[in-house]
Amino acid sequence: MAEGPAHAATAVRPGSGWPGDPATTSTPVARTAADVRALAASAGSLADVAARESVCRACDRLVRWREQVAVTRRRSFADETYWGRPVPGWGDDRASILILGLAPAAHGGNRTGRIFTGDRSGDVLFASLWRCGLAAQPESVAAGDGQRLITARMAAAVRCAPPANKPEPAERDACAPWLATELRLLRDSLRVVVCLGHYAWQALWPLLAGSGYVIPRPRPAFGHGAEVMVAPATSRQRAESGVSVLGCYHPSQQNTFTGKVTGSMLDAVFNRARELSR
Ligand code: SF4
Repeated sequence: MAEGPAHAATAVRPGSGWPGDPATTSTPVARTAADVRALAASAGSLADVAARESVCRACDRLVRWREQVAVTRRRSFADETYWGRPVPGWGDDRASILILGLAPAAHGGNRTGRIFTGDRSGDVLFASLWRCGLAAQPESVAAGDGQRLITARMAAAVRCAPPANKPEPAERDACAPWLATELRLLRDSLRVVVCLGHYAWQALWPLLAGSGYVIPRPRPAFGHGAEVMVAPATSRQRAESGVSVLGCYHPSQQNTFTGKVTGSMLDAVFNRARELSR
């Protein structure tokens, strides 16, 4: 792994003034999956892990894609600078609720640098979070817009926008230590994980198992409103509370346009998450 930035001009340079950029020019850069494991394991705080993941370059295909999208851009955003970097976890450092998605959208999080910000999925999601008291504003359009998560945190299972919204299994596995570290650092406060979609649901179980929770066998099936309580494995941990895992259909355009998921369906899941987190 190397110290300092090695970013092409296709991505925002760390420390160059982007609102909320967690990294600086001295943030270490992961260039391999082994680097990710080492840098994630040694991160001492959520701020550390956010900085390190936001400059990660471990997956060649995803680095090329995210930076290429940042150059070509969508016509409606042609005048904007795209973030073009991994989108780090974001929100309350003492969150009791973690909202887990698949990966940043090419012209959403990959453009704005904040997960579920600046795309249609985020419009539906943040409106619901606001109604449920988990977000300070009903809209999330850009880094620096004043949006804030309340007792909640948001992350993607894979931190870089993938082509066709489909990460490869090796990319998911390479990225997993970042999320594992966030789970470790949230351990004292975390009570609920809301998985937005099947992919996030699938990605979470091995990480919870790796964090010392007893995972039901067979693994619970994903569904909207699915709810599973997982307990800590060790006797010391048994004194701690477990974590409830909730399933929620992803608020993708396809799902919202077809009515598979609606605002009130999201509200039901997030209100339940709030109940369980108290
Ligand atoms: S997907 Fe994850 S591991 Fe791969 S380059 Fe992006 S941040 Fe790094």
